[in-house]
Amino acid sequence: MTESDRQLEGIDPLVLGELLACATSNLWLGIILFSSDRKVIFCNPRYREMYALSPEQVRPGTPIKDLIEHRLKLGLNIRGEAGAYVRARTEGSIASERTVQQFDDGRIIAYTIHPLPGGGGMATHEDITEREELSARLQERNFQFDIAINNMSHGLCFFDADHRLRVCNARYIDMYGLPPDRVGPGTPLAEILDMRFEAGSVPAMTRVEYASWRTDVATSAEPTDSIVELRNGRTFKIRHRPMPDLGWVATHEDITEQRKAELQIAHMAHHDALTDLANRALLGQRLRQTIEQGGLFAVHHIDLDKFKAVNDTLGHQAGDILLQEVSRRLRRLARDSDTIARMGGDEFVILQTPISGQGDAEVLAREVVGALSAPFELDEHQAIAGASVGIAVAPRDGTTPEQLLHNADVALYRAKSNGRGIHRFFEPAMDEEAQNRRALELDLRKGLAAGEFELHYQPIVKASGHEISGFEALIRWHHPRRGLVAPGDFIPLAEEIGLIMPIGEWVIRQACATASRWPNHLHVAVNISAVQFRQPGLTEVIVSALAATGLDPGRLEIEITESVLIQDRDGALATLRQLRALGVRIAMDDFGTGYSSLTYLQCFPFDKIKIDRSFVRGVGNDAGSLSIVRAVAALAQGMGMTTTAEGVETDEQRERISAEGCNEMQGYLFSPPLPAAEIERRFLAADRPALPDRIAAA
Ligand code: C2E
Ligand code: CA
Ligand code: CA
Repeated sequence: MTESDRQLEGIDPLVLGELLACATSNLWLGIILFSSDRKVIFCNPRYREMYALSPEQVRPGTPIKDLIEHRLKLGLNIRGEAGAYVRARTEGSIASERTVQQFDDGRIIAYTIHPLPGGGGMATHEDITEREELSARLQERNFQFDIAINNMSHGLCFFDADHRLRVCNARYIDMYGLPPDRVGPGTPLAEILDMRFEAGSVPAMTRVEYASWRTDVATSAEPTDSIVELRNGRTFKIRHRPMPDLGWVATHEDITEQRKAELQIAHMAHHDALTDLANRALLGQRLRQTIEQGGLFAVHHIDLDKFKAVNDTLGHQAGDILLQEVSRRLRRLARDSDTIARMGGDEFVILQTPISGQGDAEVLAREVVGALSAPFELDEHQAIAGASVGIAVAPRDGTTPEQLLHNADVALYRAKSNGRGIHRFFEPAMDEEAQNRRALELDLRKGLAAGEFELHYQPIVKASGHEISGFEALIRWHHPRRGLVAPGDFIPLAEEIGLIMPIGEWVIRQACATASRWPNHLHVAVNISAVQFRQPGLTEVIVSALAATGLDPGRLEIEITESVLIQDRDGALATLRQLRALGVRIAMDDFGTGYSSLTYLQCFPFDKIKIDRSFVRGVGNDAGSLSIVRAVAALAQGMGMTTTAEGVETDEQRERISAEGCNEMQGYLFSPPLPAAEIERRFLAADRPALPDRIAAA
């Protein structure tokens, strides 16, 4: 028995009760003392309040069993059967224990029993409802936070002011290849850096350099975003944000793929997809840089001579292979300091820099022409492309990229018109010519819409009866400033710039419309350019012109030259057969000026051969011309074709030619080409003026 027990011994229990009541009345805890036989000795008001007990119900001597049963009545949740529950708490020795009780009304009360020396015990009861709720909420929040940070696609870490890790997510550990068991709350930044050096997840810097950089960022009060390229090939974006307590939080984003895509896009923006050569944009940049650096350099504008033919006959795929091979050959010729660019289509530019003089440019240009004249192997075919080169030398020929490219282009044009397969240096006089051409080009584009074209018609006269069989339509351009422009001066340009299609279509429609007003036995002949002939849709244009004007197809004659048959002979023959099937007549124009007119006569049964003017001119004095006219007339007769002699200017020519058996003639002797109204007035009107005695229309 202790001293204090002895002191308590002597005190009247009632007095003791008073003392305890006084000491515990204001306590937050409910307190109850009970004797070894489990009877109430004392309880404080808080205890009664907690369990809604009257003083009577807890009077000293009340069995604890009653109080437990009272709690069950209050709605205490228990596991198992009530009697067993009560027995377990009222029998056996009193041991120290903590019990949490939950009531139906949601309250949670925990009590702890402290055994007392005399065999009884004291229990402290505490209402922990709020605390439990709070901790449940906190737990839930922690749980959510864990889920959130561990499911982030970014790495996340918090460090405290002492540069120790507070928390990081799994992604952070993973991104830097850190050993998970060595990283946790409290790990110093320096140790994490060591682990990163072991894993290779650091940029190409020394340990000291990197540590001092990151420490600067860490101690700075400024938010910092940095992009870090790691030795292992990854690129991370780190967003560092300082916290008020001098720690910081950082997110780490793996932007490797995004970076690659960006670089790829940047590359694509500056390179040609087919050949991977520089594109126009990159060439422009390089030119500007080179100009800024000063010094002598050359701009070579290279154009393939026969690319279009390869593309048209062997297909685009073959064309692509050819362009790739061209780029390989050019790469072999250029130096590292040079830039090779593809400008689109079959045009290339080499920026040759530096050069010591024009001679260097000359050498490269010759090499380029030589390398590109060698045959190309395209799958099963061999193709010849050939190239022309125009060269501008800076600073002499220009001080801006635009000027230099323009002048190299002008020189290229000259190289092409001087026969292709060669190079030319720019000269100022070339530019003037090119400007004229461009002005003409612009005017030509406007001319069609402005109605500046007109058809003139030239009579075709029968050799026998002095009568007109029809008219050839010949285009004229009334240029607002230049006056009348002859077809020879604009048809080739129109062919080159693609305007021949709309112009040719206009000619067909116009000629059909005019001829539909004329007597039914007169035909109209229309010249079709080889370029126009090769384009799809010619048959459709002719069909629709015939339909729109009601002209009998048998009255329309188209004149083509043998060049139509040189490229893609099968395609051309197919078109000819279609037209023939419509009833349209086909004439071979300028017979004898090409290389193989005779060969082509065998491919297709032409209705008519037009003997070129150059032979007609010679019939008076040149035996060769006369025999050619004779041979052609005989051949045509044998094959059932009509022959027309062009450019008959004198009676002598007329006599000789009709003597050789030509069926028709055409030339100034009979009439020059004239506007439709004039033709109608002179040759077709009922009250027509006196006609030259040698022709009559009907
Ligand atoms: P072409 O088809 O051989 O036309 C005959 C050319 O000879 C015409 O020249 C005509 O005016 C000219 N001519 C006619 N009789 C004589 C003569 O007795 N002596 C001389 N020296 N020349 C004569 P033009 O009208 O200047 O046409 C030149 C070429 O332009 C034509 O040659 C034809 O190839 C082409 N052309 C004319 N009109 C058209 C057209 O509407 N479409 C196309 N694609 N080509 C056309
Ligand atoms: Ca003609
Ligand atoms: Ca002709």
